[in-house]
Amino acid sequence: MSSLKGTIFNIQRYSIHDGPGIRTTVFLKGCPLRCWWCHNPEGLTSTRDIAYIEFRCIGCGTCAQVCPLNAISLKDGKVSIDRSRCVRCGTCAKYCPSSALTVIGREITVDELMQEIERDELLYDYSEGGVTFSGGEPLYQPEFLKAVLLECKKHGIHVALDTSGYAPPEVFDSIINYVDLFLFDIKLLDVEEHIKYTGVSNKIILRNLKNLVERGRGKDVILRFPVIPGITDTEKNLKLLEALITELRTIEEIDLLPFHDVSEKYARLGMEYKMKGHRAPSEEELKSLKERLEALGLYVKIGG
Ligand code: SF4
Ligand code: SF4
Repeated sequence: MSSLKGTIFNIQRYSIHDGPGIRTTVFLKGCPLRCWWCHNPEGLTSTRDIAYIEFRCIGCGTCAQVCPLNAISLKDGKVSIDRSRCVRCGTCAKYCPSSALTVIGREITVDELMQEIERDELLYDYSEGGVTFSGGEPLYQPEFLKAVLLECKKHGIHVALDTSGYAPPEVFDSIINYVDLFLFDIKLLDVEEHIKYTGVSNKIILRNLKNLVERGRGKDVILRFPVIPGITDTEKNLKLLEALITELRTIEEIDLLPFHDVSEKYARLGMEYKMKGHRAPSEEELKSLKERLEALGLYVKIGG
């Protein structure tokens, strides 16, 4: 029994893209990276967020009336939130009649989360699936994650970890034996470019990946590579990626994750989106990259 609490922002059932079989994907809140293209901006902060979905709003003004900090005003029937004043109390969302305002993120104990995960245990057995922890960066809540992983192990539930690999080595090493499959992001190999586009160095990430392989866990790693025209698909980055794969040897699969514009998600959270209007990779570009990586002997999948 554990009443240790963590913060999550979604539990997605019947997922088929986050590892083998049918899975329950748990999204943990908080991430130390700020990738320009992040498609889950609601997972970036560790705290709750307030999202505003404009097309649902009927302009009734209730939110402005109930906000205890006067953080909401209405202009032309649309809500404007002064996020520097907002304390994310959730009152506006509670009283909004059309669910145009919603709270993202909730606290949950290890026991409560295990109850949610165990609900579909039969389905995991039947489909050889399990649970996947994603985010945000799940390793950003190490104590909570480890406690849940331990419970999953006790119940014999297959665990996949969707990770940026960015965690202190002692944290990363402490969870290795509780994870069956690593969905490990590799974005940019040049350290300066990694810092520019993600906000952090890739040194720890590469250390953790190499350590996994050195421990004989290479076959339990699927690399995930975001394909972003002009940023990750440059000849320089692809050559460095090929060199890394050759060095790692035992990794057998890489998934190519095509960039797509998620401006709307950022707008709902009042966050800046640096990739607005950036183009997605073409079918031909994806096919050509797939063939190039297959030539290294890898199984290459387009999509997660
Ligand atoms: S979450 Fe609370 S403080 Fe923030 S806008 Fe809504 S009512 Fe105001
Ligand atoms: S309470 Fe909801 S529907 Fe009414 S103005 Fe605010 S966001 Fe729009």
